[in-house]
Amino acid sequence: MKILDLKGNENLTKLKEPANVIKNGGLVLFPTETVYGLGANGLDENAVKKIFVAKGRKQDNPLILHISSINMLNQIVFKLNEVEKKLINAFWPGPFTIILNHTDIVPNSVTGGLDTVGVRMPSGKIARALIEYSGVPIAAPSANISGKPSGTNLDDIFDELKDKVDYIIDGGHCDVGLESTVVRVIDNIPHILRPGKVTPEQIKEVAGNVIIDSHILHQLDSQDKPLSPGMKYRHYAPNTKCVLVYSKDNNKLVEKINELSKGFNKPLVICCNDNVKFYNDKLNINIGFKNNLEEISKNIFSALRKVDKFEPDIVFIEGVEATGLGLAIMNRLIRACEYNYVEV
Ligand code: AMP
Ligand code: MG
Repeated sequence: MKILDLKGNENLTKLKEPANVIKNGGLVLFPTETVYGLGANGLDENAVKKIFVAKGRKQDNPLILHISSINMLNQIVFKLNEVEKKLINAFWPGPFTIILNHTDIVPNSVTGGLDTVGVRMPSGKIARALIEYSGVPIAAPSANISGKPSGTNLDDIFDELKDKVDYIIDGGHCDVGLESTVVRVIDNIPHILRPGKVTPEQIKEVAGNVIIDSHILHQLDSQDKPLSPGMKYRHYAPNTKCVLVYSKDNNKLVEKINELSKGFNKPLVICCNDNVKFYNDKLNINIGFKNNLEEISKNIFSALRKVDKFEPDIVFIEGVEATGLGLAIMNRLIRACEYNYVEV
């Protein structure tokens, strides 16, 4: 396994080496603007299978193909409709994935046997150059063992994945910190299957309409057939029980967390920087100022990965308003809390 340090280094031609690893069927851990990806040649069935083994990912949970040009898109999907075109013109390159009907060159291992495939053109320079030098779409789920929080910086995932990949590219901390927005257009209406940095409000502005899938903040029933297989699986949760607490009123939020933590020996609170002072008697991890959702997004997965190291007996997490980027934050947090949610 080799490591290429590209933190603050703009010499992207060094990416020819990991691009060769991709071409030859190997696995490369690389940064994108959203989270780190665990990448392989997306047109090579055997290379793709290695991703599932490395992550311990269920075979029916499909992968996203990452592309660097519209030429590449045209090889893997059929003609787009007007709404789909508008969306990709508005949000590519960037943290936006669209579900489209795929051509025969996309292997079944990528799609879990579905007729559709998720496609994204990332804006991160390292990711784009890596795809370009590889000359193939790169299938890349988030870099983490399945179920764990996604990796947003190398320190968090190095031990977990170092023995499972052929090559690692260190690009420092990811800008966004949450995985891409996933959208499928049905009857000309964009349906958000996973919220991300591209918000429902932005999508509505471009397409005139948007539907937020009901499972984004609500648990699936056992009979439900989700539009996105990934919704079925446990994700992001630390080993310690976590409870998500939200109130529009900050005083009530703090009061509720302090009340709920009575009776626990070692409660930990994941809170905004503004509120740390109210939890002096507890362990805490702060994730950014309340009015800075960008900063909070960036820090969530790292914070969730730290939780168990403190050995708390319960964790309370401060929620945010579920609009704009806040919807993506609340989606990851409610899953980390396995739907234990209190609103006051
Ligand atoms: P990750 O690879 O970890 O970023 O997760 C990708 C997410 O996109 C998962 O939740 C998948 O279920 C979802 N996804 C990928 N491809 C499709 C597809 N063809 N249809 C619906 N959801 C998809
Ligand atoms: Mg993932």
